[in-house]
Amino acid sequence: MSAVPRIGNLINGEWHFDGTGREVLHKFTGEVLAIAHDATPAQVTDAVTAARKASESPLDPYQRYEILSKVADAIARDKERLALSVCRESGLTLKDCLGDMDRAVQTMRTSAEEAKRITGEMVPIAAAPGFAHRMAFTVRFPVGVVGAITPFNSPLNTVAHKVGPALAAGNAVVVKPSPFTPIAAAELCSMLLEAGLPPGLIGLLLGPGDPVGTSLVNDERVDFFTFTGSTATGKAISARLGMRRATMECGNVSGTIVCADANVPDAAEQCARGAFRKAGQVCTSVQRLYVHADILEEFLGHLTAAASAMVVGDPEDPATDIGPMISEAAAKRAEEWVNEAVAQGARLVHGGQRDGVAMTPTILTEVPSDARVVCEEIFAPVVSVIPFKDFAEALRVVNDTPFGLQAGIFTRDLNQALEAAKRLRVGGVVINSTSSTRADLMPYGGVKDSGYGTEGPKYAARDMTEERLVLLEPAKDGDR
Ligand code: NAD
Repeated sequence: MSAVPRIGNLINGEWHFDGTGREVLHKFTGEVLAIAHDATPAQVTDAVTAARKASESPLDPYQRYEILSKVADAIARDKERLALSVCRESGLTLKDCLGDMDRAVQTMRTSAEEAKRITGEMVPIAAAPGFAHRMAFTVRFPVGVVGAITPFNSPLNTVAHKVGPALAAGNAVVVKPSPFTPIAAAELCSMLLEAGLPPGLIGLLLGPGDPVGTSLVNDERVDFFTFTGSTATGKAISARLGMRRATMECGNVSGTIVCADANVPDAAEQCARGAFRKAGQVCTSVQRLYVHADILEEFLGHLTAAASAMVVGDPEDPATDIGPMISEAAAKRAEEWVNEAVAQGARLVHGGQRDGVAMTPTILTEVPSDARVVCEEIFAPVVSVIPFKDFAEALRVVNDTPFGLQAGIFTRDLNQALEAAKRLRVGGVVINSTSSTRADLMPYGGVKDSGYGTEGPKYAARDMTEERLVLLEPAKDGDR
């Protein structure tokens, strides 16, 4: 029997295994995949010290481009093995993980390209009264040390979305991944070192949010934080940052509108995927579906057919569409919210069963507006279908939440589509697809309680720089 692999903390290119060991479990079988060692308080300090020192000798942009390109190539080359590893530690299906590996390749490749494009701008200073003989421009410099704190869902691509842009912008980065899924982050760090990244520019700290994440946040030598996770954690981190800048990618209770003129079978098919893939554990998962009353029954028929066709079970089986949730506790919470909604008067159209750690795709309708399944982020394969008659009212209810990450609308009416783009207070409006639509190069981020700052390598790399103005004034003629 082969020994269980150990994952350590990466400090200045060395792996350290001395902190408390924590089992990383296969989320479906419960098998122990690895032992991950928590970072000690001294290791948090050491990782930041190493990053600080390394950040003082940034790589040239072309070197960053070459290293990040090599990592993109390495992910592409090793896609099958990495996908299986992510599938086991996260419970996401092999199908989803293979797609995520392709996305991580894009994230790293786009980050590599952005390393060559970081630029300031010319300032039309001569137009200011009294400045006609001057010139000005801005230059962007790395912020220094970036702290990256990541969640359990999409554990490779989410880390890539932090590390790629941080390095592209010339920073050092210290990553604190979710304790549920540390393996993918360790793999990415190894690939960066193998690609020739100077050791201090990447650090990895394992362990729980408190004390490892909190210690990283409390270290004032970290200049910038890029966080993805729940709104509660995002708020707690934000409150400790003082004047330090950050990007906060937090939760959402995503809404999608299906108008009466939509292509109903297509919309239902897309909504089923957007609600149930990755067992609903996506920040933009379709959770609230507002469907025009005239097409409600037809839509529910197609949505139910799509949900019934989905295979729930072993995520390693290539045929499986919905794997386990991250933990049995998470699945029990989802089941409890569904039962509670039904007790409040909701009608269960499909699913609602929990088998250990897995939840069947669940469709609810006639849901009271104060039920938790529509007010709080469920992060499970559960969707509530709510009829509307008046389009303006549908826009109002999509907005009627503390969150604002992305929203979707299905319509062939250009005026309705543009009205939605104008009125929905979210970071992104997706027309003729669901809220859960993302290409890795696009600007991505929320408003309100969904956070602030923007992901997508171009935007994240820009955010992880400081802009400095250079104002040129001709030297005065005459004697010194
Ligand atoms: P979480 O907030 O529990 O944990 C996220 C990370 O923060 C983990 O690494 C955790 O250890 C760390 N952490 C926890 N408390 C901390 C603290 N006080 N200080 C510092 N670090 C701390 O989130 P999760 O359950 O892993 O992920 C699910 C959540 O992530 C959902 O709310 C989902 O919407 C959100 N999410 C958002 C996006 C987005 O782009 N907006 C993408 C994916 C997931």
